[in-house]
Amino acid sequence: MEKERKSLIIAVDGHSSTGKSTVAKQLAVRLGYVYIDTGAMYRAVTLQAMRNGWIENGKIDEKSLAEGLSRTCIDFKYDAETGRYVTYLNGECVEQQIRGMEVSGNVSAVSGLGFVRKMLVEKQREMGKNGGVVMDGRDIGSVVFPDAEVKFFMTASPEVRAKRRYDELIQKGENVDYKEVEDNVRQRDYLDEHRQESPLRKTEDAVLIDNSHMTIEEEIEYMLETIRQKQ
Ligand code: C5P
Repeated sequence: MEKERKSLIIAVDGHSSTGKSTVAKQLAVRLGYVYIDTGAMYRAVTLQAMRNGWIENGKIDEKSLAEGLSRTCIDFKYDAETGRYVTYLNGECVEQQIRGMEVSGNVSAVSGLGFVRKMLVEKQREMGKNGGVVMDGRDIGSVVFPDAEVKFFMTASPEVRAKRRYDELIQKGENVDYKEVEDNVRQRDYLDEHRQESPLRKTEDAVLIDNSHMTIEEEIEYMLETIRQKQ
């Protein structure tokens, strides 16, 4: 009889546009786990800040944001059919709105704020505490779940990542310029790595995956093999 497998916490961190979410979602399906996209949470807060004028031309009115957030409800409702959490802002599903370039351009500034991170990290810990989750983000293995049983850190060259993101946006019908996308990728790397609050970094115990020249299937097989050794 096959031994029962443990319900692990799997942290998938890394640079933006490395295909973390694509791979993390598929991993979750293959393992029968829940997928949690923590970037969506920072994006939802950013969307709310933009809609209310708490961020304008990259400048954040921190006082209004902090006050406004205490009256803002960000929810992640579990959709049993897809096995995923869907992001809601004050009851409105905002999955589409949070993925555009405007939110991408402002999200690093918002995610660098300590009070925003504190609020979202609490939610993330609550959602993942029972294991059986694949959580993707920037600080999952370093801050949210430093004791996660499996940690991956994903990267790829900035050019490869910008091309992937550009193709994705064009496919969604967004009118974007390649250079603008590449600048955004590089700028987000810089801001994520150099911020004071929970900067993006690979922990020593994380498995590094540079997927510049890997197919998604190769990547998933490699990750599943690493996970099986921990179960
Ligand atoms: O993963 P995604 O690109 O959607 O994340 C959007 C932004 O949210 C990142 O560029 C980063 O600034 C922030 N983020 C973060 N910590 C996380 C997840 C995302 O700071 N755990």
